[in-house]
Amino acid sequence: MDSGADILMYGMGERAVVELADALNSGLDVADITFVDGTVYRTSDISSVVDYIELPSYESMKEDKLLYARSFYTQYCNTDAYSGKRLVEPYANKQYIVQNPPSKPLTVQEMDDVYALPYMRTYHPSYEETGGVPAIEEVKFSLISNRGCYGGCSFCALTFHQGRIMQTRSHESLIEEAKIITNDKDFKGYIHDVGGPTANFYHKACKKQEKYGACPNKQCLFPKPCENLIINHDDYLALLRKLRALPGIKKVFVRSGIRFDYMLYDKDDTFFRELCEYHVSGQLKVAPEHVADSVLSKMGKPENLVYKAFAKKYARINEKLGKKQYLVPYLMSSHPGSDLKAAIELAEHVRDIGYMPEQVQDFYPTPSTISTVMYYTGVDPRDMTKVYVPKNPHEKAMQRALIQYRNPDNYELVKEALLKAGRGDLIGFDEKCLIRPRKMAGVSGKTKQKNNMGSSEKGKARNKNQSGQSKKKTIRNVHKKK
Ligand code: SF4
Repeated sequence: MDSGADILMYGMGERAVVELADALNSGLDVADITFVDGTVYRTSDISSVVDYIELPSYESMKEDKLLYARSFYTQYCNTDAYSGKRLVEPYANKQYIVQNPPSKPLTVQEMDDVYALPYMRTYHPSYEETGGVPAIEEVKFSLISNRGCYGGCSFCALTFHQGRIMQTRSHESLIEEAKIITNDKDFKGYIHDVGGPTANFYHKACKKQEKYGACPNKQCLFPKPCENLIINHDDYLALLRKLRALPGIKKVFVRSGIRFDYMLYDKDDTFFRELCEYHVSGQLKVAPEHVADSVLSKMGKPENLVYKAFAKKYARINEKLGKKQYLVPYLMSSHPGSDLKAAIELAEHVRDIGYMPEQVQDFYPTPSTISTVMYYTGVDPRDMTKVYVPKNPHEKAMQRALIQYRNPDNYELVKEALLKAGRGDLIGFDEKCLIRPRKMAGVSGKTKQKNNMGSSEKGKARNKNQSGQSKKKTIRNVHKKK
């Protein structure tokens, strides 16, 4: 409403922009262009709007957060191009925003046509004077094979702009683009990625989607995979095989997110094996995001045991292949549902796998996600149950520090978090401890210095002569001092 626009487009926009241009070209007044899917318009008269759901008014939602949560969930359930209804949101002074259903997904041919347009394949020349865009190489030598995602992670807004129905390009279109890439003067033989929002979603989730769209009230993978879900990597694998066989190509990597649970559910290991053998460049990044099931359920992610099984299988396959390739998990702190107990569980996991994340994603509210609604309203809009939300910046800092507990700069925050959560047992000298006590009464300066280190330096600096008894006393002294 406050944009002042007559009409807005949402989603990927290719269909909407053409239909809108055609309508304007035919001489229609913009006020009469109310029929284009994938557009939103404002009006003071909804008498001619048909088949719609009226949402609570903007003003009433400003007063009542729970009403907003309900309204959001209605929108969430109407993001599908086949089943989504028209939505009407009333505003003061008898104004309305009307959101037409999303545009229909592009067919394979349409996707191929969009990607065959004469793109410049580089950044805008205006960047030249500031030295160009270093990341261009990664983008320039990557292929987009799909769009859309039926993963349904709560913190992702993709459902709203690309939808859950996969849209893919043909092998021919991708091979054609790969050939263009190989002729680029800067190409060194490496295709950096073949993917999209989720690399290994290269066909629709189920047969039903082709005719009726995605289920409004059911997720394809969460909490368990739907019985109609087609779990198969054959087509994607066939594409990767063709690409890596092209002249001039040394390696084809897959760096877009791999949905690890989907990969694990595939009874045929061929894709898993070939991915590890040919398409991983030393480390595979996956996104379990957390390990506490209480948080994972709020994130819309599978239970931790699924990730554990995946990690085990990944290690087993790589060992068989004789490859030393690591699994790098993306982890998120302070997501709604994560209290200090859950954050400590995550820190203990990081300890157990001997991993020191260089970067931690701290949950940050972004538009159009279930997680953001939880953050703002304190309820899960899917069932309206209360959710614990870490909002206080200090608590968020503690949760974040816990994941990087080995970083000496995080020492005080980690210590405070552990004591606050009643986990003083994780401060000490045992190899399971996250940090060591810093101020040691009655120990030499040299030992003191060693004891400031976290357990990552264990073995190097552990004071082997100290008895368990005296360790406990030291911890008690530290607690007393505090
Ligand atoms: S039937 Fe299952 S796989 Fe198909 S859209 Fe519905 S939830 Fe997803």
